[in-house]
Amino acid sequence: MRVPFAGTIKRLAWATGYYERALARRSFPGVAVLCYHGVTVAAARRDRLPHAGLHVDAGEFEAHCALIAAHCQPLALREAMAIWAGEAAPLPRPVLVTFDDGYRSLLQVALPILRRHGVPATVFACTGPIANGTAFWFDDLARSRGESAAEAAKALPYAEWRALVETTGGLATRHLSGDPLAPLSVAEFTALAHDPLVSVGAHTATHPILARAPEAVQRDEIARSLDAIAGWTGARPTSFAYPNGRPGADYDDRTRSALRDAAVTVAFSTHEGWAHCGEPPLDRSRFVMRHGTSAAELAHRMCHSW
Ligand SMILES: [Zn+2]
Repeated sequence: MRVPFAGTIKRLAWATGYYERALARRSFPGVAVLCYHGVTVAAARRDRLPHAGLHVDAGEFEAHCALIAAHCQPLALREAMAIWAGEAAPLPRPVLVTFDDGYRSLLQVALPILRRHGVPATVFACTGPIANGTAFWFDDLARSRGESAAEAAKALPYAEWRALVETTGGLATRHLSGDPLAPLSVAEFTALAHDPLVSVGAHTATHPILARAPEAVQRDEIARSLDAIAGWTGARPTSFAYPNGRPGADYDDRTRSALRDAAVTVAFSTHEGWAHCGEPPLDRSRFVMRHGTSAAELAHRMCHSW
């Protein structure tokens, strides 16, 4: 009962313009870095979509972008970096939209919405599936053995995880045409990267839990993803998002050291929080965005609960 009631109150508050007024008075304690994954129009098939919570509906995403454009200051990554470096004046309600992994729905569904509202976005690409035309391992495994198997695999020792994904992985994208879980192709990623609204960064080659991998593997995963993007776009990224992203659990000091050596200057976790100037640049916090978050709920969090 509690959640629907709260949702009703928030929708009423939204309808009366309460959040609009509250946001206008609000000054964020840092940049709100929103972490999305996919954006889907296939709402009718949501029950058959593994990790469905990480794929927001197009209507939800459109409402988020309208809210951000009207009541916040949507930033490109370089603008957020300038604020964090003290090279640009702080803004009252800065928002940085990011996407992890590199689903095809970014180009097909999200980009037209971003364009309609003039909202920039940064895409952190897991480059192996994009290069090879295969599904992301966690989607493959969730489809064949269930989401709980994909979650359990994240906790395996590195060698066991590698053996598992190499025996179960590799569902070709030709079987995924029109599928919301399909990754971008190289041509699609390159087109997205060259859009004026889009910045790109790396997210490893094969999406391991980096902290479980030997240091040499961590360095190789980081280098391969940066090299692939440099080859596709002509520019080597200097930004990164950690797979799974929990500080201490999913990445560690060896990861940060590898990123520094690879000339990466900003890296994003999934630690929930405002990305304020005092945060270490390789530990930028984000808010993970899930399906079911209305514009009223997003406004409420920005005003009251984050
Ligand atoms: Zn990811």
